[in-house]
Amino acid sequence: MVARRLKSPAVTTTDNAASSLKVTQIVKGVIDDIRANGDKAVRSYSEKFDKWSPESFKLSDAQIQEAICRVSPQTIADIKEAQRNVRTFAEAQRASIKDVEIEIQPGVFLGHRNNPISTAGAYIPGGRYPLLASAHMTILTAKVAGVPHVIACTPPINGEVPAATVAAAHLAGADAIYILGGTQAVAAMALGTETVPKVEFLAGPGNAFVAEAKRQLFGEMGIDLLAGPTEILIVADGQADPFTVATDLLSQAEHGPDSPAVLITNSEEVAREAMRFVDEQLKSLVTAPVAGQAWRDFGEVVVVDNMDEAYKLADEFASEHVQIFTERPREALDKMTNYGALFLGEKTCVSYGDKCIGTNHVLPTKKAGRYTGGLWVGKYLKTQTYQEVVSEKASGELGLLCGRCSRAEQFEGHARSGDLRSWKYLKDGYSW
Ligand code: NAD
Repeated sequence: MVARRLKSPAVTTTDNAASSLKVTQIVKGVIDDIRANGDKAVRSYSEKFDKWSPESFKLSDAQIQEAICRVSPQTIADIKEAQRNVRTFAEAQRASIKDVEIEIQPGVFLGHRNNPISTAGAYIPGGRYPLLASAHMTILTAKVAGVPHVIACTPPINGEVPAATVAAAHLAGADAIYILGGTQAVAAMALGTETVPKVEFLAGPGNAFVAEAKRQLFGEMGIDLLAGPTEILIVADGQADPFTVATDLLSQAEHGPDSPAVLITNSEEVAREAMRFVDEQLKSLVTAPVAGQAWRDFGEVVVVDNMDEAYKLADEFASEHVQIFTERPREALDKMTNYGALFLGEKTCVSYGDKCIGTNHVLPTKKAGRYTGGLWVGKYLKTQTYQEVVSEKASGELGLLCGRCSRAEQFEGHARSGDLRSWKYLKDGYSW
């Protein structure tokens, strides 16, 4: 493959590694302190990172109602409409998950049940923007899965309760809402403190600190996936509209200064025009200080010889969001397997997925799309197996097989469980 790079990221792999190491160390320090000192430490980090130290981090019912009253009726209606879409798709996905039971041989039944997790935490980001759509994606999806207790954490914005986020979390069905952000929120939910209940599982996107905290606490709780700083990759052929390509690249670059935006195309003309439009559009975009930095530091434009190479390279990126602007966008479904979500054709875009179309926007970043998809109802379910042997003959025969298999592994105790049953039910194989 001969790929020509028209734009490379300004930030190098070495810079990236150094910044990741710094984040890892900061997060470890915060988690260790919260593990040792509970709420006292939570409060000190909330003060330090968010200048936020209310009497209680948990909102009372009155505070929730007061926040909702501050949100315009149009925004409430829009939240409800977006939540309807998310719920409908999540319910369809839930309906596709079936319990299983088979009789694998006469008298031997094997099955699995899909049981919801008992308590889930939902992290709703809010450092830079009130990402209220994350409430639909985490809380609503958990509720559709049947999780009985869902608690939500979201940071304050400029020292205030983020009213629209609180409204979205409440309408999505959160059982408790805490105004708490970053590592301190993740650690409080993972470990439990005097005032924040411990959760079994935590889902939600966030910045590098949030993603790293989830990674470090995985094991003490389950996590959905590592959904760190947003990424976009656009695969375009010569018929793509470069203005739309540029608009959509910037739509994701504005998430944060560390958000990669990548264009892969077989058309040098589309590439050059899209780059020109990015520069032009940045002049009027109010979020240009963030989006411009992301584009400069993490933006990439690659021209390849043909579309097969474009798909192959896109698969290597394994980007969170992949838009396909080609003559036959659906062919990406067969050509690609590594991505968080695909957006097929110019009539759709990542922003629809982010805000309202109904698919989940919590998606794998940093190449995690190689081994996982995004958040969905299935992540809140435990697929748990069971077995029952009702036939004496079947149990006795399994006992003989189990005895031989166990001894091949030198497990005498296991072998005796099998031996005992073969002796009881077949009057055979009892040798100890
Ligand atoms: P955030 O809520 O994730 O993070 C804000 C918190 O970060 C603050 O509460 C603060 O406590 C902590 N913090 C900030 N600076 C810190 C520092 N120097 N040391 C320790 N802690 C610090 O909100 P955000 O920052 O706006 O980031 C949201 C992120 O979520 C963006 O990067 C966006 O791209 C990402 N996102 C990802 C997905 C996905 O599915 N992958 C979806 C939506 C958003």
